[in-house]
Amino acid sequence: MSAECETIHKLAGELERHGFAFDESKIPLNGIYLLFQKGEEGHQGERIVRIGTHTGDNQLQPRLKQHFLNQNKDRSIFRKNIGRALLNQGNDPFLEHWELDLTTRKAKEKYLSLIDLDYQKTIEAKVSEFIQTNFSFCVFEVNSKEQRLQIESGLISTVSWCEECKSSKTWLGNASPKNKIIKSGLWLVNMLYKMPFNSSDIEHLSRLIKG
Ligand SMILES: [Zn+2]
Repeated sequence: MSAECETIHKLAGELERHGFAFDESKIPLNGIYLLFQKGEEGHQGERIVRIGTHTGDNQLQPRLKQHFLNQNKDRSIFRKNIGRALLNQGNDPFLEHWELDLTTRKAKEKYLSLIDLDYQKTIEAKVSEFIQTNFSFCVFEVNSKEQRLQIESGLISTVSWCEECKSSKTWLGNASPKNKIIKSGLWLVNMLYKMPFNSSDIEHLSRLIKG
């Protein structure tokens, strides 16, 4: 899988890299994003630490905002996981409350009075600061939802199986309470170690990315 993963990293290296905040005019309406993190290396460059996409039509930009900008952990599993690792690293008991999903009215009625919301806001701000300081990403356009999900899954499997892409000793993910994150070296818990791309899938991907 390492050769395929290396090609994925090469293809990604040819794409424009974005930071925060990003220029919306350069982000397609539909597509897949690859996330890189400072200090994490593989294949002679920064390694991919997360791959993601969106389901709804034209939702790539809103999805990127949910992950990287909007301060609401319950709308982004990525934010939730960064927060979990930061809290766990500091042995912060607030982790227990960070786990609660406050999206539904029922959950709000049940938990809201228990939670120190000012403190939660502080953690949300820390998560945003960490993301904006440490991550960058590239994107490529994929218009069909079915194709997006297929490619996302193949990419995640290929990168998770790669023996050259390993987390550094100081990677924040090592402090995650989620074993899958520690083990994979990726900010992901789903679609790991499934069917990786073969060389013909990679050629297909290359044509798609290069247009
Ligand atoms: Zn790799």
